[in-house]
Amino acid sequence: MDGNKAPNVKGVDSPGRRTVYSLCGMCAVRCPIQVEVQDGRVVWIQGNPNDKTMGTSLCAKGAAAIAFENDDERPQYPLIRTGARGGGQWRRASWDEALDYIAEKLQGVIDKFGGKGIAFSDRGGPFADLQKTFVKSLGSPNYFNHDCTCGRNAQHASQSLFGMGRKGLGMDIKNTKHLVLYGRNMIESLQVKEVKDFMDALGKGAKCTYIDVRATLTASKASRFWMIRPNTEYALNLAFIHVVLAENLYDADFVKKWVVGLDELRESVKETTPEWAEKMTGVPAGEIKAAIREIAADRPNVIFHLGWMTARHRQSFYTSRTAHILNALMGNIEQTGGLIIAKGTGDYGLKGLNKLDQRAPKVEDPRVDGVGTKFKHFDKGPGLMHLLFPAILSGEPYPMGAYIAYRHDPLTSLPDPDVMKQALDKLDLIVSIDVNYSETAWYADVILPEATFLERGSIIAEKKGAKPNLQLRDQCISPRFDSRPAWWIFREILRRLGKSEPLEFETLEDIWAYQLEGTDVSLEELRSKGVLGLVSKEERRDRDTGLGFKTASGKVEMISPALDEAGLPSLAPFYDPPANEPGQFNLVFGRVAYHNHAHTMNNPLLNELMSENALWINKATGGELGIGDGDTIEVKSNGYSTKGKVRLTEFIHPEAAFMVHGFGRTVPLQTRTYGKGMADQRLMKGKLTSYDPAGGGNCLTETVISVKKA
Ligand code: SF4
Repeated sequence: MDGNKAPNVKGVDSPGRRTVYSLCGMCAVRCPIQVEVQDGRVVWIQGNPNDKTMGTSLCAKGAAAIAFENDDERPQYPLIRTGARGGGQWRRASWDEALDYIAEKLQGVIDKFGGKGIAFSDRGGPFADLQKTFVKSLGSPNYFNHDCTCGRNAQHASQSLFGMGRKGLGMDIKNTKHLVLYGRNMIESLQVKEVKDFMDALGKGAKCTYIDVRATLTASKASRFWMIRPNTEYALNLAFIHVVLAENLYDADFVKKWVVGLDELRESVKETTPEWAEKMTGVPAGEIKAAIREIAADRPNVIFHLGWMTARHRQSFYTSRTAHILNALMGNIEQTGGLIIAKGTGDYGLKGLNKLDQRAPKVEDPRVDGVGTKFKHFDKGPGLMHLLFPAILSGEPYPMGAYIAYRHDPLTSLPDPDVMKQALDKLDLIVSIDVNYSETAWYADVILPEATFLERGSIIAEKKGAKPNLQLRDQCISPRFDSRPAWWIFREILRRLGKSEPLEFETLEDIWAYQLEGTDVSLEELRSKGVLGLVSKEERRDRDTGLGFKTASGKVEMISPALDEAGLPSLAPFYDPPANEPGQFNLVFGRVAYHNHAHTMNNPLLNELMSENALWINKATGGELGIGDGDTIEVKSNGYSTKGKVRLTEFIHPEAAFMVHGFGRTVPLQTRTYGKGMADQRLMKGKLTSYDPAGGGNCLTETVISVKKA
């Protein structure tokens, strides 16, 4: 192996001006981009105009990618820990040395516990075929992603009703007449194309009902905003359904054909009147009635958002389920301005990409988190990562020996890092493969620097949708430092373990050729556009005979056999969360449009826009506590305390407090963000093991904090 040379794609070092089509990597959305390269340096990035919805648009984070590329405060070469875990003492290693070290430790774990003793996590997404192939090749069933603190409740809600995952249903936002959003802060926690569709729809007169504990920028665009009591939006949906059924506002034809269990649904909401919901949510009954009548008048071109970041509270799963149910009652499936079933190449009779995963041997061992065995109602895919840590601590159902984090930072993105560290301390090996110094990287034994998204290519992504397409992340420039692309890192680890057959390709171009084999698409064609639609005309499924829900009955099932079998209700009664004591608040977290979840806080440009977070609390409530705007406050929860600044505003519910996620960093090498602001995940003491038994997501916004002037 030539360990001293990055495996670049051909032509990347060509002098002069080049245009490269690629995919942004500044957040997990991965928008199509056009990159201008001059003599090996990126000089301009914009959206890829070959993708009509994207056009040349880019968000602030995407525009800050050049600053990230030119920043030296990122891992530049492999590092092996020399002091205690988390102590920040490292030595520089060559790639050979670091990879040999990792392989030797992994071999030890495999010898002791089998491949299943290795856990791996990433942030999912369109390239996950590569990561899953790596984990399978190691002989481990323990592939995880971040979704237990993101959309797992929505995933399981979709599966329990429609038999398909949350990405099985797309939202035709551009053509909708009314969009209902439950804390989905579309303008700030943004996907460029979705924001453009949203703004187009509003421009054409669409309405938006936005429900949240605080007024976000999305609230400012909405035609109706309800500042709801924290963690109660499920009650609102139960009242919506009550009115829809009581006043026959639903699409009777569609429901007759495609819904089973309407009587059970009717029975479950007979008491959940708008007047009842007003007491739970604080939203006036008259407004609830007026809203649902207005929405139903526009059916079927309406959308109740199915759920985005739904790891909030113990009823988020049921909030998402009832949003799915409201969509079905509106008869909006396969309707313009409603929900469109996502179609892949197979649905259009085309051959799709060859999967790498099919080259890896099947793994028979059960997952360590019990998903698929102890918990049969959960989707096996990425499992539930919060259950990994108790399993490591207990050694049940089997002992674990190693953990590899690939561009995932659980010590930032999951609650209660102290408990996670206790679990990680039981392992023989922790590896972080990342472009940043994440909190998890800083606690690892080895940091392997991945090349940035501008410096590496990725496997080809096949995207389902109304019309399927292929997307290419091409390499734009050579790595500035001694970093490598993930496919190469995985192959090299597997080669040392004698398990590399599934990823045994010499170059990325060889992987692309394998993926495209048997399709009608050539690499040249894909490369020339970056994004390639595979069909010209959109086909919809037949709403009389062929919607093809993947449930046992082929219909939308109000009562889920899987939940029944697990002893869990399909139509659960509402749990009224207890009121907080004076000076206490439910902690809510979120985003601003110019930072992603946790990786941009140290970006030279984005840090200038926001270098520190503050805790939003209600102005009147803050006044009652003797707190003034901008004061330094002490925030406590369950034995943990931190200090920071407060922002007093009337735009937040008196029972909630909000902070932007991702601050309070502890890595000194990130000098711009080190020690600045507060970390919400550290305040979430005890929430690692607090999750919804039906939906699987963590109950993060059930964290109660107390606040006083410092
Ligand atoms: S939303 Fe912004 S940061 Fe995220 S992929 Fe798109 S352009 Fe990049």
